[in-house]
Amino acid sequence: MTDAPLHQTPTPTAPAGPPKGKRVQAVLQVESTTRISPRMLRVRLSGPGFAELNRNRHTDAYVKLLIADPATGLEPPYDLEALREERPADLPVRRTYTVRRWDDAQQALELDFVLHAEGGDAGIAAAWAAQAEPGDRIAMAGAGGGYTPAAESTRHLLIGDHAALPAIAAALESMPADAEGLALIHLDHEEDRQELARPAAVELRYVIGDREELLEAVTALEGWEPEDLQVFCHAERGLTKQLRRHLVRERGIAKELISVSAYWALGRIEDQFQAEKREAIGQIED
Ligand SMILES: Cc1cc2nc3c(=O)[nH]c(=O)nc-3n(C[C@H](O)[C@H](O)[C@H](O)COP(=O)(O)OP(=O)(O)OC[C@H]3O[C@@H](n4cnc5c(N)ncnc54)[C@H](O)[C@@H]3O)c2cc1C
Repeated sequence: MTDAPLHQTPTPTAPAGPPKGKRVQAVLQVESTTRISPRMLRVRLSGPGFAELNRNRHTDAYVKLLIADPATGLEPPYDLEALREERPADLPVRRTYTVRRWDDAQQALELDFVLHAEGGDAGIAAAWAAQAEPGDRIAMAGAGGGYTPAAESTRHLLIGDHAALPAIAAALESMPADAEGLALIHLDHEEDRQELARPAAVELRYVIGDREELLEAVTALEGWEPEDLQVFCHAERGLTKQLRRHLVRERGIAKELISVSAYWALGRIEDQFQAEKREAIGQIED
């Protein structure tokens, strides 16, 4: 099992959490599930475990879920060290999800899962979400994160796919009313569009169809000077590499102004995708 480092950078206003850097397993309970589009399911989780999370103010804050195969009979929290030594085949898998919304008052958080394939082809996390019922318990670590729309940016450009929609939605909601920009989101299916709360001068544009059409849409953008911009670009790995290359090399946008990250990779389960971050194929920057 490999894992990306968690960027634990709570702001001074964040409530105190567990010691920085300590990998705590927070166990939360499913409170409810809501189908917000045909292929997007919201799972609301709550419970005392909420206090164990390193709450941060990044709009792309994410948690690492630990999901055990129900056939193992294991219940969270997991003794990962013992499992690694004694039952390595039963180790829970780790899957990464954006915190779509923190509800501090109710000690709850919401995660939006793309149901990216259904039935036997569904990923472990997507299948877990699809079957989740109130009362189910799940362990998680986090939160990490690294992007927050800067108040001083004159324009925001947000580019992503279905998996990045929750992070883009959280970013749009956090912007001041006078923010300007464009959110370009690729979806495979028209019916998965969501209307997202955002400032009046931030346009929301969906690109429906082949994944490559997102690159074409970004390439066709006019009137985006490389200065005074802040860019968020998170999507499937191969596409993210192409998008980054275009933004940096062809548009001349400074790397420091771009939050770029792959959220998943075609044909790879997350374990492999994370492991490949240490190899050439996993590098987004060239
Ligand atoms: C920081 C971060 C935040 C993320 N936030 C979210 C989020 O809020 N919501 C969300 O749904 N996802 C999010 N993701 C992506 C999610 O972690 C991956 O999609 C993950 O692989 C899903 O796990 P799984 O067990 O369902 O599928 P896996 O077992 O990992 O993969 C099974 C198969 O499905 C394919 N696959 C995986 N994800 C997708 C997808 N999105 N579309 C199409 N095919 C896919 C894989 O290539 C593989 O062939 C985020 C990823 C990162 C790194």
